[in-house]
Amino acid sequence: MSGRHRVLAGREKAMANKRPGKVGRRTFLAGAGASVATAGVLGTQAASAASAASGNAPFGVPPGQSKNYDPTYGVYRGTDPDIYNDWGTERDNKVLVYSRTAGPRHAHLGRRAILDPDHSSNAGLDLDRPYVITHAHTDPSVWPLPLTDDNVSQNELVRMLSAEGIEVHVTEDVRALQRLSDSYKAVIFNSPTRDTLWDHAAGAEGDTRLDRAREGLRKYIQGGGGFVGIHNAHGTEYNGWNWYEGLLGNSNYYSHGANQDGDVVIVNDRDVSTKDLPARWGFRDEWYNLIPFPTNVNFLAVVDESTLPEGPGRPGGHPGHGDFHPISWCQYYDGGRSWVTTLGHSSDAYREGTDFPGAAEFQQHLVHGIKSAMGLEPFCTPGRG
Ligand SMILES: [Zn+2]
Repeated sequence: MSGRHRVLAGREKAMANKRPGKVGRRTFLAGAGASVATAGVLGTQAASAASAASGNAPFGVPPGQSKNYDPTYGVYRGTDPDIYNDWGTERDNKVLVYSRTAGPRHAHLGRRAILDPDHSSNAGLDLDRPYVITHAHTDPSVWPLPLTDDNVSQNELVRMLSAEGIEVHVTEDVRALQRLSDSYKAVIFNSPTRDTLWDHAAGAEGDTRLDRAREGLRKYIQGGGGFVGIHNAHGTEYNGWNWYEGLLGNSNYYSHGANQDGDVVIVNDRDVSTKDLPARWGFRDEWYNLIPFPTNVNFLAVVDESTLPEGPGRPGGHPGHGDFHPISWCQYYDGGRSWVTTLGHSSDAYREGTDFPGAAEFQQHLVHGIKSAMGLEPFCTPGRG
């Protein structure tokens, strides 16, 4: 069976299982900023829900929910679990790791040629689309091509998550996002770059729907999906897709300083992704500077800028964030869960048994962040205040 068939089969299964929940979806649409036209289509149930909204709330916001409505992005977002869309979707214990690069490529991702069906060196392979390497460990013979030793972070994510009983699919095929299966418990953006979801970079011809992958990701999240952003997830889709900036917590990449050692300080010791970590641990990274600065999220960890020998920025550039320079946080967003970290520049940070500073702590942080976004562990537990 091809990768494409596996993905589609999973989606059909998920859709079949969603049918009993259809009323719930209608209720959600009525409440969550549905347009006039949508309310009309849905009939009197939706119209009455909309008209009951507070006078100050945007149209369609149900009573009592306006506090979580973010007009910048036109979505519900924040730390209130009430805004999670639990539609009862049946999801398998698996994740999709996505790392297509439409620009600079991190060394930890390794060779693109193996993973990107649009790369010229793969032109003769006639790969099935979407092209997904699956690590179900049930039938390796169906893998289109194996990962190579080059693909460090992908291999190491497979290692870390397989140890937790999680099935990992790895892809750099934008079409896997176009047809994103609801049966994934989380989608992990593993340092993709730039306009990674735009089709025209893939050489699509005669198709005016160049934003299908964006639509796929948005609907997946709206259906209660989990999102994990690692490192250059912050260097992705950063000009012009407001919704994605919101998914990152109303934050965006601006610049980074030197790749250097520094101390990570835990600011929330109750969340599963931080509670068993030391209060302070050394790590090495580029320590991304952000504009805008994340809001209405639960901050998990910061970097102590006073420990950065070369400072957080570069001369004449972003000065850093002073006393509070976040590097990880989480939020509910537009119906789904989002856990992000700006850490993860170096290959050795993902490897087991290296002397890279803080590698074990980073991996523990990451694994529990992923499990919480999947719904396997409590998600985004608030700190002590
Ligand atoms: Zn980097």
